[in-house]
Amino acid sequence: MRERIGREGPLSVEAFMEACNGYYYATRDPLGAAGDFTTAPEISQMFGELVGAALADVWARAGRPAASYVELGPGRGTLASDALRALRSAGLQPPVHLVETSPALRQAQAALLPDARWHDDIGDLPTDRALLVVANEFLDALPVRQHVGGAERRVVLTPAGLAFERDGEITETSPARDAAVQALGRRLVHQGGTALLIDYGHERTAPGDTLQAVKSHRFATVLDQPGEQDITSHVDFRRLAEVARRAGAAVAGPVEQGPWLERLGIMVRARMLANAAPARAAEIEAARARLCRPDQMGSLFKVLAIHAPDWPTPAGL
Ligand code: SAH
Repeated sequence: MRERIGREGPLSVEAFMEACNGYYYATRDPLGAAGDFTTAPEISQMFGELVGAALADVWARAGRPAASYVELGPGRGTLASDALRALRSAGLQPPVHLVETSPALRQAQAALLPDARWHDDIGDLPTDRALLVVANEFLDALPVRQHVGGAERRVVLTPAGLAFERDGEITETSPARDAAVQALGRRLVHQGGTALLIDYGHERTAPGDTLQAVKSHRFATVLDQPGEQDITSHVDFRRLAEVARRAGAAVAGPVEQGPWLERLGIMVRARMLANAAPARAAEIEAARARLCRPDQMGSLFKVLAIHAPDWPTPAGL
């Protein structure tokens, strides 16, 4: 990054985040205890199973059309494999299409999902069937643009290293997230289907710098170790709901993850799993609490559904 800025001059926050995350995801599996961060599907199988159950339910209420399972940024493939188990038990064995740019993670996904097909972009997805789409912690990794006092915020090179050019009241937008949701919305309108977008973020659009870096499960300084730590920012759900509506899609939510999982039946599922494996009861309850409690992931994480106008609203929203 120093060489590039030395050569090309100051780099926008957006270009910096895109370059760092592109390298970061391409070169490792960042998930789990030995990695940098842990996501909901890696905490418990209950998460992916309830996503699968919600998709199965909405698919059945839509009249059981031909449908593909689609996941954006599927990580290790854990969510997909848990969700597909729930879909199969509801009578749907869909083709699996994964939008993933990282060669390292594609390889991990192939081990769990040998029949999947991979795509670089939402625009490359097949056009023949309805789409049952999931994206968990995908949008937060797409680059944000920051503005301070009307000017785009940039990263500069100083004698002490990388620095932000200016501070002040920061506003964030994300053309990359808008483009992803617009493309998805248009597909859902044309092909039918629904998308569950799950991420950390805020319900209302508000100014503020939400860029953060995480390394080995700790917050890190954003400009340290470019490409060696995960950089994300809060997802602006209100904005994305508006983008989806403008693309012609219907929208439900956002709702908080905890109440959403509870309405989908996580208590019952936790009890079933604990009854089947009593030695693991405490571990299952700890995972449920971590996913649902407002002081853990239950409140910061939100779920937004976007769907074809003639499809029913997914359960829990
Ligand atoms: N959904 C998974 C992984 C979240 S990490 C989970 O919940 O565990 C973010 C994922 O998005 C990774 O799979 C990463 O490789 C992928 N990703 C990041 N930027 C991307 C882009 N521009 N296009 C496609 N996939 C991307």
